[in-house]
Amino acid sequence: NAAADAILSAKGLTKEFFGFKAVNKVDLDIHEGTIHALIGPNGAGKTTVFNLLTKFLTPTAGTIVFQGRDITGVRPADVARMGLVRSFQISAVFPHLTVLDNVRVALQRKAHLGTQFWRSNRMLDRLNDEAHQLIEAVGLTAFAGHDAAELPYGRKRALEIATTLALDPPVLLFDEPMAGMGVEDIGRISDLIRRIAKGRTVVMVEHNLNVVADLCDQVTVLARGEILAEGDYASVSSDARVREAYMGS
Ligand code: ADP
Repeated sequence: NAAADAILSAKGLTKEFFGFKAVNKVDLDIHEGTIHALIGPNGAGKTTVFNLLTKFLTPTAGTIVFQGRDITGVRPADVARMGLVRSFQISAVFPHLTVLDNVRVALQRKAHLGTQFWRSNRMLDRLNDEAHQLIEAVGLTAFAGHDAAELPYGRKRALEIATTLALDPPVLLFDEPMAGMGVEDIGRISDLIRRIAKGRTVVMVEHNLNVVADLCDQVTVLARGEILAEGDYASVSSDARVREAYMGS
């Protein structure tokens, strides 16, 4: 049973805006440990599905189940606390703090140890170790002492990923992680996402089909608010209906 092994699944997901069905009866199963892409031509409903999954929008109809729990009525902050975390929105990066301090603040948010935390040197050492490990994991060691505001665009995104990873979420969702990036940054962020996906589940909306082909195990193609095709990239990209939907956009 496909839905039973899904870490995140939607059933009959529908969102109407003033009577217009932006998303219409979408059934979606995201399997644990996969990198799952949502693709489709402009206006297909990708962003709306993404916002529904992360609870930034409330569905007109349908249910969403995360780790066996119905989260349809759960608020976004609580969903994030449960481990379904959206990168680039929820992660606050403070422009006038250094890379190191941004990551320390993010780790602190997870720690919930209050002032006791700072009274213990041993805890402080551990915080610093964890911060440096995260900074290294996202390739920012050389930038640790730089203010976030000074970072080049792709590095800023890497910092946002680090602050999200500080929460150690089992499921990470990215809305167009490569938007506005050059080839070099795309390569670097792809490698990073591939590495952080080990032991985690990643869901991403992505326009760049080369990235999807290279990175994603599962692809759901949306068009006009409905699912057009599902499978690996090779199978969906050879589907005649998918080709037609992209040609027509
Ligand atoms: P995609 O991300 O695939 O480009 P969207 O989910 O942004 O598609 O949009 C799907 C459809 O829903 C589009 O026709 C869009 O105009 C419409 N839509 C999205 N958000 C709203 C909104 N807040 N109010 C009205 N219509 C919306």
